[in-house]
Amino acid sequence: MIMRATDLLTLRPEGLYCPPAGVFIDPVRPVERAIITHAHADHCRPGSAAILATPETCAIAGVRYGAGAFGRMETLACGVPLRIGDAIVRLVPSGHVLGAAQVAIEVGGLRAVVSGDYKRAPDPTCAPFEPVACDLFVTEATFGLPVFRHPPIEGEIARLIASVRAQPSRAHAVGVYALGKAQRLIAELRIAGWDRPIRLHGALDKLCALYESLGVPLGPLAPAAAVDKAAMAGEIVLAPPSALADRWARRLPDPVICAASGWMRVRQRAMQRGVELPLTISDHADWDGLCATILETGAETVWVTHGAEEALCHWCATMGIDARPLSIAGREEEAE
Ligand SMILES: [Zn+2]
Ligand SMILES: [Zn+2]
Repeated sequence: MIMRATDLLTLRPEGLYCPPAGVFIDPVRPVERAIITHAHADHCRPGSAAILATPETCAIAGVRYGAGAFGRMETLACGVPLRIGDAIVRLVPSGHVLGAAQVAIEVGGLRAVVSGDYKRAPDPTCAPFEPVACDLFVTEATFGLPVFRHPPIEGEIARLIASVRAQPSRAHAVGVYALGKAQRLIAELRIAGWDRPIRLHGALDKLCALYESLGVPLGPLAPAAAVDKAAMAGEIVLAPPSALADRWARRLPDPVICAASGWMRVRQRAMQRGVELPLTISDHADWDGLCATILETGAETVWVTHGAEEALCHWCATMGIDARPLSIAGREEEAE
């Protein structure tokens, strides 16, 4: 018998569990049945017998892990209600990366929403975040400290292009996460008028091709490998951050090492990683975005996970919202 919204979800060793539906959400270990918010590795792990996710997330998970990584994949388009056990489940866009969704669970007039990762800033590569009124809101808090305020992306893209123009003999090598960040950066460069081929590290090829096949145009892309070193002068190259730290980067002429991450707000982080041009570009809500979203849901109870839980819980308390941190085992810092 469900009496309170907090009965809709509980924490088990495998992860967040919804007893009335009998499903886990983004479990950290393989389970019988899981709902997956999006295909980033810390939310989508192989091995579960059955997963339910948006068609885009299923497609991305299939490309990342191989079709055999999950016993069964079931797709559910955003906005379509589905009865699972005693619950009505709905996926709602979270604005994080292509296919990313919040999970709304309703039983007997009570509603819980699990945000997954989300952002409120516009992103040409995915559907925008939709706030859902609820009684219990489970929010991420990757950048849950007031120091984290992400500037508008247009300004960061303009800084990158200005740097390329000012140093035409050098290549600009931007460290990006392969799912989401790479494609958003490319799409924003196109909006800013950058129409040259953008050079890609091989690790980014598959997901860029998949985005295009799912209807996200990225313009001309070309491999970074097998090109004359001198020909890379004045070009923008995207690669995983790890590739820029090793010998792979030596193929580029006097590269300007750039990084596109919410963590670049902290200057020390940029210096540690040897980043010459830090770009504060994040696929997560910043502090203002987290606070505004919590208020918009109207939730009386908030559970905070994935990041700086304590600060956001404290803020909730000052607003008269009942909040607690949710310590999900097996999590590490968001690589974004
Ligand atoms: Zn994510
Ligand atoms: Zn995450």
